[in-house]
Amino acid sequence: MELRPSEPLLDEERYSRQILFKQIGPEGQRRLVGSRAAVVGCGATGSVLSSLLARAGVGSIRILDRDYVEASNLQRQSLFDENDARESVPKAIAAARQIARFNSAIVVEPQVADLTPQNVDSLLTGVDLILDGTDNFETRYLINDYAIKNSVPWIYSAAVGSYAVTMNVLPGETACLACVFPESPRGALETCETAGILNSAVSLVASIAATEALKLLVGDRSKMRRTLLSWDVWSNEQAEVSSAAPRAGCRVCDEREFVHLAGEGRPHITLCGRNSVQIHERQRQVDFLEMSTRLEPLGKVHHNSFVLKFWRDPYEITLFPDGRAIIKGTTDTAIARSLYARFIGT
Ligand SMILES: [Zn+2]
Repeated sequence: MELRPSEPLLDEERYSRQILFKQIGPEGQRRLVGSRAAVVGCGATGSVLSSLLARAGVGSIRILDRDYVEASNLQRQSLFDENDARESVPKAIAAARQIARFNSAIVVEPQVADLTPQNVDSLLTGVDLILDGTDNFETRYLINDYAIKNSVPWIYSAAVGSYAVTMNVLPGETACLACVFPESPRGALETCETAGILNSAVSLVASIAATEALKLLVGDRSKMRRTLLSWDVWSNEQAEVSSAAPRAGCRVCDEREFVHLAGEGRPHITLCGRNSVQIHERQRQVDFLEMSTRLEPLGKVHHNSFVLKFWRDPYEITLFPDGRAIIKGTTDTAIARSLYARFIGT
């Protein structure tokens, strides 16, 4: 058989049950294979989103995550296993490896990085859709600014406790995140750390968002939901608020003021679900071998090709090759910064 490189390959047997679903069909499947999506954050929600899209045959998936796998992730982060946790494998890498085991026909591009105003253009460029697997509003507002400015659809998804919430953002058509939440609802919302999280709430929200993604990518835009949908899987309470039109006066989609892209007042970030602080003040390449030698007399140190871990009671520092660090054992940014300066250097 002759291969025509201009046409995406269609693996009819693999996708046969999905092609039978007439709203997708062979043409929809061809479109999925030719589509490019980005999943920002590959924790619980990001794992399910990436897995569903990869199995459905979305041809190119860029997975961004700043974190590494830990034992406490395994209850809900379905792309990871115990070995990933033992080795502290960055989530983006572990996700790409796992996906390659069940769909080697698609391209997965792992990016071990924190999405910031400085790198958002290069990390999100060239995709047809952005999916939210993050755990914080700061990054969501950054995605929202980027998406509205560049007219890229994105899907907001969040889960905490037994509660799940999701909304499609179609720039120029529907409300954006800032239309619905002009200010971060941080004070009012609980986090995974205070309220815990049910894996079923995660699966629910990711399933809904992944289905909306399929509609968009196969070109069935009119069937996409135009509401902010919330669902509590424990109390069975459900609510929908219309998001069918942008809000007049919205800072982002009406006034086109992209303050999050401009990076105003971006602080160190305390991660969800852990007693830890991320430090990323300046980009610099770290030589793990050299750093290990330097740290060995000062505490326990271990590294692989992705991360270097250094234990100095009661703190644990995880260092990435670009100089970024996650410091566990404190939520005090001043302590974290001084530990970084003392052990990693400035
Ligand atoms: Zn808006």
